[in-house]
Amino acid sequence: MPLVPMRQILDEAAKKGYGVPHFNVNNMEQAQAIMRGAEEVKSPVIMAASKGALKYSDMLFLRNIMNACIEKYPKLPIALHLDHGTSVDICQTAIHLGFSSVMMDGSLQEDGKTPRDFDSNIEITREVVNLAHPLGVTVEGELGCLGGIEDGIGSGQEKLTDPDKVKEFVEKTKVDALAVAIGTSHGAYKFKIKPDPDKNLLAMDIIRRIHELCPDLHMVMHGSSSVPQELIAQINKYGGAIPETYGVPLWAIKEGIKAGVRKVNVDTDLRLAVTATIRKYMKEHPEQFDPRKYLEPSRDAMKQIIMERYIKFGSAGHAFDYEPMTLEDMRKFYENE
Ligand SMILES: [Zn+2]
Repeated sequence: MPLVPMRQILDEAAKKGYGVPHFNVNNMEQAQAIMRGAEEVKSPVIMAASKGALKYSDMLFLRNIMNACIEKYPKLPIALHLDHGTSVDICQTAIHLGFSSVMMDGSLQEDGKTPRDFDSNIEITREVVNLAHPLGVTVEGELGCLGGIEDGIGSGQEKLTDPDKVKEFVEKTKVDALAVAIGTSHGAYKFKIKPDPDKNLLAMDIIRRIHELCPDLHMVMHGSSSVPQELIAQINKYGGAIPETYGVPLWAIKEGIKAGVRKVNVDTDLRLAVTATIRKYMKEHPEQFDPRKYLEPSRDAMKQIIMERYIKFGSAGHAFDYEPMTLEDMRKFYENE
């Protein structure tokens, strides 16, 4: 306790109009940074593992790290989420591992590259919902195709979400949350020029229109790292070679949250924080060889970014607003729906 269904975390966020960051996790230091940050600012937690993270960690190691978070922080509501499941099988594996939420990315075929058509997306997403809801597990779907490629997932071609298709998709699949493609992309290379608040950076009109048509739908913004320029500068100062690149600014994310976005996926920013810290440390301490010496400051650097996101997206201070639901409570909720 309390592993909670992600649906509850998003429902509660919708009631009060805030967004919750979703952080990807690959190892112990990241998991600790996510939890230490959440504890300090009192935020509910969405911790996500991608297929790549499960492979990297042989699954069991990551699952046990995530379980350690639940054990160590018994008061914070925590959802464990599978990011970008590309098949029914991988979603089922995550459910067996004890995740309280899965994403069935039916926008792509099982290879994680080829776009899938609308009807087939409905069919496969519905199949996952049929498996997950009777166990109280949350399902996120995706409509449209996000730009960029990360962990081998992505078609490389972007297709913005068509608001007129969303209602049909949600009604037919019964998904709890929906990833929308509005111009964000995975990875560090999102925008080549500095985002200008006066120009349309993202297709916010799509989010607003979807919110009008489906006011109860929890939308998810993927690829929403902000790519802090000071981290890029630090990486390059200490031997890195990252070309000029910009992420999604916090003001754009806040606009999305105002229009119904409840989960904001952040991964790249934590990777940048780790790399920037380790590069600096190595350069300044060439005599050191104990990994703990550089992993410790890199964990602190991630925690700083994490806390800032909890605060800026508005989830800070809301961890104890509600009584955590169990998967069994959620199963009953779906049964009566
Ligand atoms: Zn994503």
